[in-house]
Amino acid sequence: MKSLCVLCVLCGFASAAWALEREAFTITKYDLEIRLEPEQQRLGARGKIALRNDSAHPQKIAALQISSSLNWRSIRIDGKAVQYVSQPYLSDIDHTGVLSEAIVTLPAEIKPKDSVELEIGYEGVIPLDTTRLTRIGVPEEIAQHSSWDQISPSFTAVRGAGYVAWYPITTESADFSEGNSLFEVTNRWKKREQDASMKFSLSTDGGTYDRNLLLLCNGIGNNIDTREGSTHDHYARCEYERFGLATPTFAMANYQDQSKPPFYLFSFPGHEAGAATYSNALEPATKFVSGWFGPPSAPVAIADFADPNSAPFESGTLLMASMAAQDSKLAGTNVVHELVHSALPSSRPWVYEGLAHFAEAMYRQQQGGRQAALDFLGLHRAAFLDSEKEVSEALQKNSGQKVGEQKIVEPPTVGQPLASTFDETYYRSKAAYVWWMLRDMIGDDTLKQAIRKYRAKDDDDKDPKYVERLIEAAAKRDLGWFFDDWVYQDRGLPDFHVQSVHPWKTDKGVQFITVTLENLGNAGAEVPFTILFEGGEITKRIEARAKGTATTRVELPQPPSEIVVNDGSVPESDLTNNVFQIGGQQEVKSQK
Ligand SMILES: [Zn+2]
Repeated sequence: MKSLCVLCVLCGFASAAWALEREAFTITKYDLEIRLEPEQQRLGARGKIALRNDSAHPQKIAALQISSSLNWRSIRIDGKAVQYVSQPYLSDIDHTGVLSEAIVTLPAEIKPKDSVELEIGYEGVIPLDTTRLTRIGVPEEIAQHSSWDQISPSFTAVRGAGYVAWYPITTESADFSEGNSLFEVTNRWKKREQDASMKFSLSTDGGTYDRNLLLLCNGIGNNIDTREGSTHDHYARCEYERFGLATPTFAMANYQDQSKPPFYLFSFPGHEAGAATYSNALEPATKFVSGWFGPPSAPVAIADFADPNSAPFESGTLLMASMAAQDSKLAGTNVVHELVHSALPSSRPWVYEGLAHFAEAMYRQQQGGRQAALDFLGLHRAAFLDSEKEVSEALQKNSGQKVGEQKIVEPPTVGQPLASTFDETYYRSKAAYVWWMLRDMIGDDTLKQAIRKYRAKDDDDKDPKYVERLIEAAAKRDLGWFFDDWVYQDRGLPDFHVQSVHPWKTDKGVQFITVTLENLGNAGAEVPFTILFEGGEITKRIEARAKGTATTRVELPQPPSEIVVNDGSVPESDLTNNVFQIGGQQEVKSQK
């Protein structure tokens, strides 16, 4: 009889499914007590959450979701149990591929913008689970490298929404196999939750088995020194004043602690040599970062993986990366990255993460020259190239008019402006290039001057054009066009080629060349180009706006033979048309 009732309820919901707006409520506040029992892989939670109706209609039903390996135990409002039905809800936003959804009937309708506070309780287990990957054909062993979240006696690490719904979320179903659906749903959730706050305490009986157990989380100022109390019952407290980009994450293991505050380093026994490469990287990295971004001061942490094949993960002030191998290059850039976060907090994703990745590239340059840095950036280019090509095509179709001349006033319907994106490939990879281009345009000293003036707090960074103003003031140059094409809008990428060249000599026999470059793309940039001649080469820079041409004249010691546009420092949609042979006056299609 019981199963029949469940069926009735499900049918009832199916017929009313059109009315259930799963994303109507934003969870604005979490206050949770989490209990971990690693021997049982168990998590128990209770606490309070605040829901705000962000839809345009009054809402009587709320859908709260947690991982399918967890179960709802109680939901109350003002101390009174409220009616809810629990059901599985297919969604790849959780590693199990399914959520435990509580369809809650609220005692009264919540008007738009109004909030309601719920007392909740849920519990269950969080074992390693690769279902959402293996069911689309990823082999189990490979899937475990990226889907490493678990509670276990030897290693516990659990990431939040997008990986494991260990705290309640309110989302539409996400599907890994359907184009960008998973990323769209996850990024939409992050955007809705960016101003939400969370507090949670973490306690465990794991200390009974393991006296050196360390509990970590990525909440600002709280991921460190969280071990309190006796060695038998470990306790930690984590707080996120505002989520911003952070995915709340906790970890627990028998870590060896090699921290030098504000830099915290936790490694597994047996990984001493790899951990030493991190320790050794600290001093030179600190010197480098201080010179550019000011002294690191806020706590940041790097924590080891038990499985050396685990894919690295970074969120907020915590980086998880394997220390099993001794890779001093990687250790150096990882430490630089975290120290930039320590020196320069920002609530702007493209500033916070963009600068950290940009600093990694500069560190590569310091160690291996400009080409090493450009090769490093090239790996980032691959991450956003395809989506930017789509943007370019859409813009092309969209208009017969010239985009670069500001004739389009309505916001573009495609693309991800850096200033507002929650897509990692943009605020990390594309942003790294944007900072690199700015550096090439205005020089190290001027950019350092601007960065040193940056203040995330004190209300300085309220104006969306704050960063532009700082840089323009330092550079004494109008960069509005650049910020418009690269930061405030997503206009795809530039595409340069040599339109024409004209080598000529003065009456006195001095060799010149007049070069005209054309930018076929919708984003302008200042790009380097190199003129080759017998016995040498000369590199110059030229500003080519979107859909525009630029002409310049260069004096040469010898007649020119070839021109190569763009050394890789400007991300371009097409790099195959960048070499121009002067003898035959033609563009050379390369396979690059
Ligand atoms: Zn980062």
